[in-house]
Amino acid sequence: MGKIVLVTGATAGIGKAVAEEFAKLSYRIIISGRREDRLNELKNYLEGEYEVEVFVMPMDVRNKQIVEQAFINLPDAWKQIDVLVNNAGLGLGFSPMDKGSADDWDTMIDTNVKGVLYVSKQVMPGMVERKSGHIINVGSTVAKQVPKNVSIYAATKHALNAITQGMRSELLEHDIRVTQVNPGYVETEFALVSKKGNAEEAKKVYEGFKPLEPKDIADVVVYVATLPQHVNINDILVTPLAEADVFNENRSLND
Ligand code: NDP
Repeated sequence: MGKIVLVTGATAGIGKAVAEEFAKLSYRIIISGRREDRLNELKNYLEGEYEVEVFVMPMDVRNKQIVEQAFINLPDAWKQIDVLVNNAGLGLGFSPMDKGSADDWDTMIDTNVKGVLYVSKQVMPGMVERKSGHIINVGSTVAKQVPKNVSIYAATKHALNAITQGMRSELLEHDIRVTQVNPGYVETEFALVSKKGNAEEAKKVYEGFKPLEPKDIADVVVYVATLPQHVNINDILVTPLAEADVFNENRSLND
């Protein structure tokens, strides 16, 4: 039987593209997210296009009980997860801390930090027992730097740095690979979500330069996952050409 990958946040953007790139390699794919209709649509598409097996695992990663139950419900044939891609995440209501919404902070921390922990906790014991596996966490450029007005989102991705490094050292003796892939601007629903559905504002995020496409990051995820077993990419930062870092952007495309 083929290898199994679990991709969280597969209903859109990077996660959806990651699921498709693994389908091209004939992995068996568990796709997860809250929007079950989109998961079913993606399952039908991947199964039809690539003749792969896809299992739909709807869950809100913020909810510990729901996550636990989703793994209890996972059929035996799908339990031996080889690759976990912790991708589900979001940024919300970027503003200075004194004006920020504590509810937005809770949502980001619950999704980007606790969600990763809840899901990983379900997957790691099996990997440890089998002494094999690969956990790939999707970070961000803001895991490296903290631009103003984005502090709490950046804090969640800094927390992810600590989680990834902790996983790497703790899982070392079990031969489990751990990687953090940190994207810069990728054109996804991220901007629309962060601007709470305001399409005008969301458009501005990608104005004046060519952002990455979800497939660009998916290609990197698949690359790190398919390297020889003795090779571990620990951390990788991938930005559009127009983004040197979070403080240095070239938005002169339409000038
Ligand atoms: P999208 O908004 O396009 O996709 C986000 C995915 O996360 C969706 O599938 C969404 O599914 C899922 N998700 C959000 N909240 C939850 C939740 N509570 N439970 C389960 N799933 C959830 O954004 P991206 O593809 O861009 O984002 C993917 C990752 O990449 C995130 O971790 C983000 O922080 C990171 N990133 C993105 C960048 C960008 O510029 N786009 C830059 C750097 C990092 P659903 O709503 O159906 O639950």
